[in-house]
Amino acid sequence: MPELRLNMITREWVIVAKDKLKKPENFIKPDGKRKHPAYLDICPFCPGNEEKSPGEVYRIHDESGWKIRAILNKFSILSQNGERQRVNTGLKKSVNGVGIHEVVIDTPFHNQIMATMTVDHLKEVVQTFKERMFALYEDPRVEYVIIFKNSGHDSGTPVEHSISQIVGMPITPLEVRARTENQMRFFDDTGECLLCKTLSDELNDGLRVVCNTDHFLSFVPYAALSPFHLWVFPKRHSGTFTGIRSDEMWDLALNLKTTMAKVYYGLENPDFNFVLRSGRPSNCDSEYMHWYISLVPRVSTLTGFELGTGMFINPLAPEESANFLRRVRIPEHAV
Ligand SMILES: [Zn+2]
Ligand SMILES: [Zn+2]
Repeated sequence: MPELRLNMITREWVIVAKDKLKKPENFIKPDGKRKHPAYLDICPFCPGNEEKSPGEVYRIHDESGWKIRAILNKFSILSQNGERQRVNTGLKKSVNGVGIHEVVIDTPFHNQIMATMTVDHLKEVVQTFKERMFALYEDPRVEYVIIFKNSGHDSGTPVEHSISQIVGMPITPLEVRARTENQMRFFDDTGECLLCKTLSDELNDGLRVVCNTDHFLSFVPYAALSPFHLWVFPKRHSGTFTGIRSDEMWDLALNLKTTMAKVYYGLENPDFNFVLRSGRPSNCDSEYMHWYISLVPRVSTLTGFELGTGMFINPLAPEESANFLRRVRIPEHAV
């Protein structure tokens, strides 16, 4: 019989199929992906084409050239210029669309993705995220910053080169607000941080753990909304990603590399979304806020049922997803 599980952090219900009609292997889409070259002359993000990706705001480089660049997004969803102004006319409320939208070019190599980068390089990607998140919050018009990554067609992007996006918005989205209030309510009721409690539960249970490093834990949530959906939690309680220390950045890179390589090799390079959810730098000492990363391999699609009810159907038990990923062996050459 299926089981309905409540995701305590998102407050979403999910129907978890436990009938074992589907095995983890059933979610592997044959890797029809093109094998990309290391360099593509028409790609605006490849080295040599910097004039096609102007507006650089940050770079990490060595003697051989740049390793990571952050640029203003040419197709920004918000306008960099102007003041934030709210207009309230009866039921019509609006804010003019000011904000910052940057692109982080994660690597100079056209064919490299997070799963195939070195841990040292991934640490520098994490460092870039931290620096840019700090910088965006310095803009007084910015209320909330989101870092995300779309990888592959099913994640919503045709772009092949590995890029991440950072958006500084003039408002705090409802979903972020609702989750923060939920964490606050849990703290009021129990005196504990909901994510710290989830972390210790998952460590004790062990059934859904995928990668446990010194400072981070990646696991499939108890009420995961889809197969192989993963959360990466920092073990140290902190309301903001901008508070991450240098040793924690390296450990996060190690955890992400391992977790993503398991997804890459186990599920044959699926499309995926990556979202970093964090409070503002001023939330560093919040007792109830706790930042984290969500990774969603796009192996199943939403149906009318999900759109109509806001409830999800996960056709694979989270324990099975985790067990499958734990057993994936990363080839020697890719470590
Ligand atoms: Zn490229
Ligand atoms: Zn916590």
